[in-house]
Amino acid sequence: DFRFGPTLGEGSYSTVILAREIESGREYAMKVLEKRHIMREKKVPQVEREKQVLSRLDHPFFVRLYFTFQDTERLYFGLSVARKGELLSKIKQLGKFDLECSRFYTAQIVSALQHLHSLNIIHRDLKPENILFNDKMQIQITDFGTAKELKDSGDEPRSSSFVGTAQYVSPELLKDKKACKSSDLWALGCIVYQMLTGQFPFKAPNEYLIFQQIVNCKYEFPEDFDPNARDLISSLLQLDPMMRLGSSSCGGYEKLMEHPFFTGIDWENLANQAAPKTM
Ligand code: ATP
Repeated sequence: DFRFGPTLGEGSYSTVILAREIESGREYAMKVLEKRHIMREKKVPQVEREKQVLSRLDHPFFVRLYFTFQDTERLYFGLSVARKGELLSKIKQLGKFDLECSRFYTAQIVSALQHLHSLNIIHRDLKPENILFNDKMQIQITDFGTAKELKDSGDEPRSSSFVGTAQYVSPELLKDKKACKSSDLWALGCIVYQMLTGQFPFKAPNEYLIFQQIVNCKYEFPEDFDPNARDLISSLLQLDPMMRLGSSSCGGYEKLMEHPFFTGIDWENLANQAAPKTM
């Protein structure tokens, strides 16, 4: 039913190939996973979780899962195509983003997180490598293999054996092995800082030292840093998850979206707006 084209990317557990459905002419990013490899690497629960979570998401800023099927050797996930690369590559390519561009993409990530958290799902590994771009240069958040579906509103931190990526991991996870929706807001703070400076807020020669900086919330802003951006990042990088802007105890997403950094953002029409020219 499909004609396979070029490879779009390779991960540790999959190859993603551009595929065209012959009858409809529609394009998909077909994620192909070798069953033997998934079982050998004990990744069955992760693959199941990815399918389960992706199939619940129907929002313009997430990679969309249209269908899955399998043959004797492989699993196939039919995903929306996000072929314009990762946010990380774009930051590296430009060195850093200007204010307009950072505001635009921060708003898209906030809108995506609002949707995710309204479904009581925590991403747990939000980072610029997991934020892809589609042809319209809109973000497409991906990688739900380590996401967590909560049974209730999930504002209270709860046990988590999973630790994400060093530079974006939250202090509550490092100190108490607990994660909550607010842990994604910490990662957001790190990503906004990275877009505006091209650097991680918490950087050190090894993971242990990075973790020390995180649990002490030790980071610095460059001189002449935009005051609204500084205030936003400081409000997200709060050690106490309940004190983070965007958490339900701090007025939720409404309050976050009202922050002066977002002045001029048309939240209702974000998905229809053209990306800034610098992109
Ligand atoms: P890992 O665990 O190593 O991150 P994985 O096996 O889960 O990898 P993905 O990260 O999902 O695989 O995908 C591998 C690569 O394929 C990505 O880095 C990206 O370049 C590309 N890719 C993934 N999803 C899409 C998509 N929807 N559209 C276009 N390219 C994609």
